[in-house]
Amino acid sequence: MSQKYIHYFGNESSESLLEAYGIVIKDKMDTLNPKICPSCDTGNTQDAKFCQKCSMIMSFEGYQEALESQKEKESEVQRLQQKYEQDMKTMQEALRQEMRNQISQLITKLKPEIITEGLT
Ligand SMILES: [Zn+2]
Repeated sequence: MSQKYIHYFGNESSESLLEAYGIVIKDKMDTLNPKICPSCDTGNTQDAKFCQKCSMIMSFEGYQEALESQKEKESEVQRLQQKYEQDMKTMQEALRQEMRNQISQLITKLKPEIITEGLT
């Protein structure tokens, strides 16, 4: 009951209302002992992997996650590159085949005198 009155300062009242409705889950940030980001000086929770403001890596776990994510991106790029090269090869082969077909169709339509005309 006393919490009602204690929290009627600043925007804490609305925050506790949102929390009561399950909309906002209050983070575990210890305002007396925050983990300060070396890059932007923002206070973060003690177990923060990344800075909430600038995404700076804040722990070894965060570092490992970033490394893992980087590896995934690199293998995805490699996979797309291989797919692109394969698709290009397939397309070039299909184009080459199509041109061969068209040329041979043209040749069968040509009358022999047209072919020999140029030679005389
Ligand atoms: Zn930061």
